[in-house]
Amino acid sequence: MDHCLHCQVHFPFDEGIQGLLGTYCSHDHRSAAGDRAPAP
Ligand SMILES: [Zn+2]
Repeated sequence: MDHCLHCQVHFPFDEGIQGLLGTYCSHDHRSAAGDRAPAP
């Protein structure tokens, strides 16, 4: 399990949205945290 850096909800690793700073539950929360997708 992993958790969202923005709202701390837990979810399986394969459902997380990757950011530069960590993992999020949704694209909305990645944006809300001021993070963005890692460079490919
Ligand atoms: Zn979240």
